[in-house]
Amino acid sequence: MAPVPDTPTGDWQQQLRDVIRDPVALCRHLALDPAWILGARTGHELFPVRVPLAYLARMRRGDPEDPLLRQVLPLVAESDAVQGFVDDPLEERDHTPRPALIHKYPGRALLIASPTCAINCRYCFRRHFPYADNAPSMNEWEQTLDYLRDDDSIHEAILSGGDPLASPDRRLATLVKRLEAIPHLKRLRIHTRLPVVIPDRVNDALLDWLGGTRLQKVVVLHINHAQEIDEAVIAACERLKAAGVTLLNQSVLLRGVNDDVGALERLSERLFEAGILPYYLHVLDPVAGAAHFDVPDDEARQLMEALRQRLAGFLMPRLVREVPGEKSKTPL
Ligand code: SF4
Repeated sequence: MAPVPDTPTGDWQQQLRDVIRDPVALCRHLALDPAWILGARTGHELFPVRVPLAYLARMRRGDPEDPLLRQVLPLVAESDAVQGFVDDPLEERDHTPRPALIHKYPGRALLIASPTCAINCRYCFRRHFPYADNAPSMNEWEQTLDYLRDDDSIHEAILSGGDPLASPDRRLATLVKRLEAIPHLKRLRIHTRLPVVIPDRVNDALLDWLGGTRLQKVVVLHINHAQEIDEAVIAACERLKAAGVTLLNQSVLLRGVNDDVGALERLSERLFEAGILPYYLHVLDPVAGAAHFDVPDDEARQLMEALRQRLAGFLMPRLVREVPGEKSKTPL
């Protein structure tokens, strides 16, 4: 097994190639007790390990409770069948009128702009998503764009994935040019974890196409714990803001990661220091393999009440659940 370097090297694409894909290497690098290896191997069979070195560097060695490690460490519990936890918890497969297009909510439509992520988060609601069926050919992309062109009630295009920023800049620049040519589109929203897990992703080429579009730009980051925000992440956020991007964050409430009021308070404070507004705190989508992350609704509400005693209103995320068939997120 090749040794894992301590620090990431190279540009973002090199860092993407260098991600840790071996559960044993992950455990060994973090000096975990070998007892964790069996679970890591079992979970890895269900959903492969993927951890960028820049993210790994923010974890504490020798601590299996580290809140960043908990998000990426496969466990035996992922193989448990738990009632109510299913492969497609949001029933997205019923809302894909064209390849790589999900249209659930009025006014906006979501494009699966990349089938891969830089990191595989164990609780991901798309961990079973059939990306292979949503990798359109050029011709199919044209049909997908036609769908947007033909529906002038759609004002916002959302790039999602996988992680849309895992795509090369040339490809994204072309896609955004075609989107901005659709007159009724006003906004471009990008849901990404890449500026957090590989901050070098926010490079000049990305800022060129993103900063240059006529569309209003919103980047929704996905950060669950204050420890994820280091100086490199803050610098990446500053560059995005300088390009005219509004930065929001959505988190998932996760057992063992951020399920205490102090952790949530520090997260909101740290987000704001980085120029990011705390927007949503999602309860877990009931995806098969992630039941061990679940926090019951009553406990989630109590946490929010305790958080309200500590934070200014603008630092409070909205506690929401995504309910299949509803026209927007459902506040709890
Ligand atoms: S889509 Fe988002 S939550 Fe899911 S694995 Fe990728 S980065 Fe993680």
